[in-house]
Amino acid sequence: MSQYDFDLFVIGAGSGGVRASRMAAGFGARVAVAEELYLGGTCVNVGCVPKKLFAYAAHFAEDFSDAQGYGWNLSGTGFDWKRLVENKNTEITRLNGIYHNLLTSAGVTLVHGRAQLLDSHTVAVGDKRFSAERILIATGGWPFIPAFPGREHVISSNEVFFLDELPRRCLVVGGGYIAIEFASIFHGLGCDTSLVYRGEQFLRGFDQGVRDHMVVTLQNKGLNLQFNADVAQVDKQADGSLRVTLKNGDTLETDLVLYATGRRPKLDGLGLENTDVSLDDKGFIRVDDDYQTTDPAIFAVGDVTNTIQLTPVALAEGMALARRLYRPEEYRPVDYADIATAVFCIPNIATLGLTEEQARAQGHKLDIYESRFRPMRNTLAGNQEQSFMKLLVDQQSDRVLGIHMIGPDAGEIIQGLAVAVKAGATKAVFDATLGIHPTAAEEFVTMRTPTRKD
Ligand code: FAD
Ligand code: NDP
Repeated sequence: MSQYDFDLFVIGAGSGGVRASRMAAGFGARVAVAEELYLGGTCVNVGCVPKKLFAYAAHFAEDFSDAQGYGWNLSGTGFDWKRLVENKNTEITRLNGIYHNLLTSAGVTLVHGRAQLLDSHTVAVGDKRFSAERILIATGGWPFIPAFPGREHVISSNEVFFLDELPRRCLVVGGGYIAIEFASIFHGLGCDTSLVYRGEQFLRGFDQGVRDHMVVTLQNKGLNLQFNADVAQVDKQADGSLRVTLKNGDTLETDLVLYATGRRPKLDGLGLENTDVSLDDKGFIRVDDDYQTTDPAIFAVGDVTNTIQLTPVALAEGMALARRLYRPEEYRPVDYADIATAVFCIPNIATLGLTEEQARAQGHKLDIYESRFRPMRNTLAGNQEQSFMKLLVDQQSDRVLGIHMIGPDAGEIIQGLAVAVKAGATKAVFDATLGIHPTAAEEFVTMRTPTRKD
């Protein structure tokens, strides 16, 4: 019999922690998981899932507008924010229940409350103490909002899912995933929406073609995009509205300010000082290739480490760690290459593999295939919006190095292509693939002539 209460004590029942707990318990380990807020973590409660539900809600505005060109006469399409939030909450509660059942039926012991490390093998939750041979930190991240006068008047993504009312006007600060998604959501739901980003152009790190196309697309929809702009101060007015003063002296009147300026690892009160766990220069938990921290008994996965902050990545890391510890013969390291990702703005951005800028920096000589076209659905709708597709091909090997798309359901389309790229598909394979007609996705197998060649 082990000297410890558990073989593995997991802190945080989010994407990474739940997957690691279930898998480890399935391999026969005695596992406990502590969660202080909500089962399923950020993704299920204040991230991917409610965000996608809100994005669906926002999309209906364009659907209703487009429907008229298809002969539909619509009236009475008023929007009820409270109903959306209530229905979303009901769905999330259902998912919390599923997570509860998944964990308990796998034999995982659930502990409710904030966990604190007392030493390398001991965790305190409230007045209870648990010992474990190994501990996994999967505490995820938390929104970061910089300091400025009036910070108390702005919200983060944690609060945006629970607003009592839909604001009439909204300002989003930031230029990453959350900022672009919520600017789209608010605009779709009818808010007068502005976005302020500190740099030249938002979506830093995305392919330049995507960034350029997205600026035009959002501006054409009527969003007010302000680049090279940052907030100096936010003041609450007597009528409850907010006056935002930018560093260049301009002012904006709005009803809500959403900060989407990145996330930081959630480490407060965790008790790392009682262990040998160390942080990297950005403040993330330092781990080796096997997710082991600098304390041999303690491991970490997901957003609390300096990894790609996506749910499938946290899931894959949790799974890999469970295998490495309790089923080593099945262990396969996570392959971080060519991870496909989508920004669920309207329309979607989806991207896979290298950007043109990265491919060049790596020394590839490229054939670049680009296409801009009005999706068929937009024709009768009288909607002028264009989709964008881009394929980057290495001239020497003919391998497809990167695929980028802006357009309806881009996330769904790129997921399929990710399998092909993972399998090492060349452009010749794309050319030999017959399209499904008529779809937008067939464009990816019918782009024959490079738009640009090195
Ligand atoms: P989390 O899911 O954050 O889980 C950590 C858990 O630990 C939390 O439940 C927390 O309460 C708990 N915890 C923390 N400290 C303690 C403690 N001391 N004791 C007990 N419990 C503790 N990713 C995608 O792939 N697709 C998307 O569409 C997407 N959309 C997103 C939208 C938003 C608005 C946000 C914020 C994120 C989104 N993400 C998306 C990112 C994704 O949610 C994260 O990458 C993922 O949740 C990370 O999983 P994790 O297990 O590392 O941490
Ligand atoms: P991101 O890192 O994507 O974007 C943060 C943005 O805030 C950047 O534009 C950054 O600018 C800007 N910023 C950072 N600090 C400041 C500051 N002090 N003042 C002004 N602007 C600042 O973070 P998000 O918060 O949008 O999302 C966190 C992560 O969650 C994402 O990176 C992603 O991994 C994940 N996520 C995934 C989603 C999906 O898969 N669909 C959806 C939502 C989140 P700069 O570029 O100049 O640094």
